[in-house]
Amino acid sequence: MSFRAEEFGLFVGGRWVTPPSAQRFETVNPATGETVGSFVVGSPDDVKDAVAAAHRAFPGWKATPAPKRGEILLEVARRMRRAKADLGGIVTREMGKVIAEGLGDVQESIDFIEYMAGEGRRLFGETVPSELRAKFCMTVRQPKGVVACITPWNFPTAIPNWKIAAALITGNTIVFKPASGTARCAAEVVRIYEESGVPPGVLNLVTGSGGVVGNALVADPRVRAISFTGGVETGRDVYVRGAQGLKMVHLELGGKNPVILMDDADLPLALDGVLFGAFGTAGQRCTATSRLIVHTKVYDEFLGMLTDRLDRFTVGDPLDPATGMGPVASADQEKKILGYIDLGRTEATLRYGGRKRTGGIYDRGHFLEPTIFETRHGTRISREEIFGPVLSVVRVGDYDEAVKVANDVDYGLSSSIYTRDVNRAFRAITDLEAGITYINAPTIGAEVQLPFGGIKNTGNGGREAGSAAIEEFTEIKSVFVDFSSKLQKAQIDRESAI
Ligand code: NAP
Repeated sequence: MSFRAEEFGLFVGGRWVTPPSAQRFETVNPATGETVGSFVVGSPDDVKDAVAAAHRAFPGWKATPAPKRGEILLEVARRMRRAKADLGGIVTREMGKVIAEGLGDVQESIDFIEYMAGEGRRLFGETVPSELRAKFCMTVRQPKGVVACITPWNFPTAIPNWKIAAALITGNTIVFKPASGTARCAAEVVRIYEESGVPPGVLNLVTGSGGVVGNALVADPRVRAISFTGGVETGRDVYVRGAQGLKMVHLELGGKNPVILMDDADLPLALDGVLFGAFGTAGQRCTATSRLIVHTKVYDEFLGMLTDRLDRFTVGDPLDPATGMGPVASADQEKKILGYIDLGRTEATLRYGGRKRTGGIYDRGHFLEPTIFETRHGTRISREEIFGPVLSVVRVGDYDEAVKVANDVDYGLSSSIYTRDVNRAFRAITDLEAGITYINAPTIGAEVQLPFGGIKNTGNGGREAGSAAIEEFTEIKSVFVDFSSKLQKAQIDRESAI
């Protein structure tokens, strides 16, 4: 697979443009330090232009029949499938996840785009009985208008496509502001939409910092909705500022996701799940397993199994299919995670790992060891989102204590329990405070046809993916058709209707 760094402009009104005197920034491969791409540092004026282009394109796109919009999405999916190997390689080069996961990121995009293409022939409303005679009532879905999609770096194709495909099928036009660290993935995705026949202005891309481009997007009165995925602090800020303009703000934020391991669990099965959940994507998934809550009867045995397996776990070149874990995504990520590991050494017992890897290829990138702390519940490392390959293990005496510990954090995204007791499994579905619960599987592994999102500080009540994605991007209009040829007054003319 050949690869070369490329230079990109902004994509506005169907053209790639580089504003005169634009400054540029680069993204780098976190495994090697090599340049992956060069991008325009967008300005507030660039945002204005992009929003204006999206605003102009809106009436035409809204009027395009939804099945036709779906056909364009199917073409996007077809082209993305053809580009999968190259795009997956770019995900791995720019973000650092191992190649199987880089390809998985793209596959998730394809799956979702195809799913949304099918929605073009659904977009269901309701028909509802009227309280009056000769009157027909229904709801129809309408697009919101210009929407802003602001995305993080950890799923650099999948999360943008979750937003873009759902917003497009429902007839919205978009200004897309990707994470700066994965701008190449974003530009490649937009290029595929362009080549697939998305009309000019319907999808626009503005790269640049969150503080400038993101702020300008949130402030622009023509942007009617903001779909944001990222950290809690940024999300809160976007929510508050979006509220000033009475915009719909959809937030998907962090997690501190527990696996509960009961004494009747299938331990080898749980071992595979915990390894994948905690150290897949180097722990940089919002749904990553960052807490392991273990019944005291199997605690020592399971920790022994876990550390034995980690001795055979490879950290290294993410493009090598044999590698278990690549680098973390950036120097900032490395610094933040090492800070938490230092904190962990003061408040918990380091059981495994804990260091930055050095020597050979490791010196060129940001490679950390998979790390395990044994801790009591309540320490900062057991409550705060670290977003790295750091697992906090907590010992508990029974199911009730496990659930109490699992729920006693500010987040509520994903959760899991390993048990062979079906009654207990069903109790856990009710008891665990999270938007997602897995039984006998790790906390990661969402499928696009189900809603995705969380409770508490993980979001503000909405869901992405599945049919819920349609809710995120549409307004519901109630329609009353009176074919009685006379004035009928609801609530007042009730008797004559009988
Ligand atoms: P982040 O720092 O909050 O950034 C997210 C996006 O917001 C980036 O595009 C960023 O741009 C932009 N941004 C920054 N400041 C902004 C501002 N003032 N106004 C508008 N936009 C602004 O998060 P991240 O580090 O990229 O991602 C990691 C976080 O995402 C973790 O907390 C993780 O749990 C969460 N996440 C949640 C989900 C979910 O579905 N619940 C999924 C994946 C990740 P720049 O890159 O230019 O700063």
